[in-house]
Amino acid sequence: MWCYYVSPAPVTVPVHDVSASYSLADARRSLETEKDAIHRRWSRHGLWVGVGVYVGFAAPDSWLIPDVAPTTIAARLVIAFAALLAFEVLRIAKARTIWLDVTCASALVVGYIGWLWPAVASHDTTAMSYYMIFGAIFMMGANLFFSFSFRLSVATSGIVLLAFFISIYWVFPTTPAYRLAFGLFYISCFLFTSFVNWRLNVERSNVLLNAAEARYQQWAATERGLELLELSNTDYLTGIENRRALDRRLDECWEGWKKHRRVFAVILIDVDFFKRFNDQYGHQEGDRCLTVIATSLRDVVSRSHGTIGRYGGEEFIVVMPIDSPEMAKGMANRIRREVEDLAIAHTERPDDRSVVTVSVGVAVTRQQSGDKVERIVREADLALYAAKATGRNCVRVFDPSLPRPDDSVGKLVPLLAAAIDRNLVSLVYQPIFDVDGVARAVEALMRFKMPDGTAVSPKIFIPVAEQTGAILELGRWAIETACRDILMTDRMATVSVNVSPVQLKSADFASNVSDILKECGISGSRLALEITEGLDMEMQSEIFRCIADLRALGVEIWLDDFGSGFAGLSWLRAIEFQTVKVDRTFLHDCSNPRGLTMLQDMIALIRNRGNSILVEGVETAAQMSLLKDLRIDRVQGFHLGMPVSADMLKAA
Ligand code: C2E
Ligand code: MG
Ligand code: MG
Repeated sequence: MWCYYVSPAPVTVPVHDVSASYSLADARRSLETEKDAIHRRWSRHGLWVGVGVYVGFAAPDSWLIPDVAPTTIAARLVIAFAALLAFEVLRIAKARTIWLDVTCASALVVGYIGWLWPAVASHDTTAMSYYMIFGAIFMMGANLFFSFSFRLSVATSGIVLLAFFISIYWVFPTTPAYRLAFGLFYISCFLFTSFVNWRLNVERSNVLLNAAEARYQQWAATERGLELLELSNTDYLTGIENRRALDRRLDECWEGWKKHRRVFAVILIDVDFFKRFNDQYGHQEGDRCLTVIATSLRDVVSRSHGTIGRYGGEEFIVVMPIDSPEMAKGMANRIRREVEDLAIAHTERPDDRSVVTVSVGVAVTRQQSGDKVERIVREADLALYAAKATGRNCVRVFDPSLPRPDDSVGKLVPLLAAAIDRNLVSLVYQPIFDVDGVARAVEALMRFKMPDGTAVSPKIFIPVAEQTGAILELGRWAIETACRDILMTDRMATVSVNVSPVQLKSADFASNVSDILKECGISGSRLALEITEGLDMEMQSEIFRCIADLRALGVEIWLDDFGSGFAGLSWLRAIEFQTVKVDRTFLHDCSNPRGLTMLQDMIALIRNRGNSILVEGVETAAQMSLLKDLRIDRVQGFHLGMPVSADMLKAA
């Protein structure tokens, strides 16, 4: 017997969609739809096979009841054709499945009666009486072969049973024994197959329920799995990806770089003075601030196909495929601006800004990126470190010469950035004497000590401050402090302050000096700025412009350490210095005749240019008397006066 069950597999659950909710009823409905399609297919196959067998019985007709066979065979053919035609028309017209079943059931009934009616007219009653047993096949077909509902099965097989009884009682001549035996056979066949049909229907319905339940469970499990996966990759606070997800993304990009040289950038972002923000506004506001920043940066970054994640605390990381290093820098600048434009108030910062800002460090894959992805993250971290040390709210791209926090120079970086706040810097003043032996000027020299009190030489900390940019703030502080210490208190007529090229290149240096002079209420001519010749200073137009602006304020420009580098003569030609300080090594070399000639030539050269001459590094009385003989304008050195604090200067 043919029958089919709805199996729970294959199961196609809906793809993950957070907005979609899927219930048990949905699962059942979708299974019913699938079951219906299978049912229709099998009904069609069943009917075609059944009709084939039905027509095939034309052969037994002609052997057993040859006298009526032409009529029964004709009836078979007509009924077979009509049944198939009716079924196919309904199927193509997409009639409901119940109508296809009704068609099959009608085909069974009509097929049976259409054959029985002419067949019982046969004169070969013995053969016919045996042949009638095949009527039971029609009942079995209704109850077991097709998948009719219980009611349709019973109705169909009931009509077959009725037709049989009518024929044996009123149409076909039979004996009581025949009627009893065959009648009982038909009735038991009817009852038995109807019972099996009922069981099958119950079973089918149970299978459907179980399959729906299984499908629903599978959907729920998949859904839960996806939710868990998403949760494990999401930062609980900001909703962007977490470190784990970003690490995976980094690994992918790293593979792409190693195998196909696909360039990518790592951008580290740190919220400036976030601890102070939390202290001032509370942790809830702190969390809100991070969330707002994360959400807006996600939009910016995803537009460029980058991924942003929270790297910990107030630090974010961006991993982004790029075409060029400029693209990475452009994105880093956009990120910095985006956060500044959010204008989240942060009034307790120690600098002059009042909104939340970020420092950004960028690293790009390069030939020397090593063979571990950690290296590029470390480089971005070093760049971020430099950005923080350079006054924050800025972007720094990794450069192999950047100081590292773990070497001795690198340790200075954060200390220099906070040196003024933490009172780690001070100024000492060394007197500068005129020919008459009177000190009318002092040179301000910066001193820096570590938090544990260890002094660090300016030769070490000044280059670091220049590299990180901390010199801008320190240099401004030095000029202001020197003006207040020396000029406002009239301790000396003039103070000279050393400046670095980094300061001269910064756009607002001259106006800063002007502000300081105004605030202190002193004339520019009492301030001298020393530019060191030995420094690697290019002749850039902004430096000349800055010097011209300073001169316009009356500020004197001195050339320091003349002769210590290669560019001294070019500088002498390009800029009109008020004073030229001869590097102390020339004085110290005067112990031999060649050295003395050298110093004399140098002095003649400066004198011809019309500059005032200052010789530094006077350590002995002999050196002093030599300089007197050479009629040097001014002198400076340990022999004449050590660098001392402003208070001690007064006492001296
Ligand atoms: P400099 O401007 O040539 O300063 C003179 C340096 O020579 C000072 O060293 C001073 O202490 C030292 N000195 C003075 N008299 C003698 C002497 O008789 N013999 C010897 N051997 N040395 C003497 P210091 O303070 O260590 O400063 C070194 C350099 O650091 C300075 O050279 C200057 O280029 C730089 N510097 C110091 N303060 C500042 C500052 O505020 N800003 C900038 N940009 N640079 C500074
Ligand atoms: Mg100097
Ligand atoms: Mg000098």
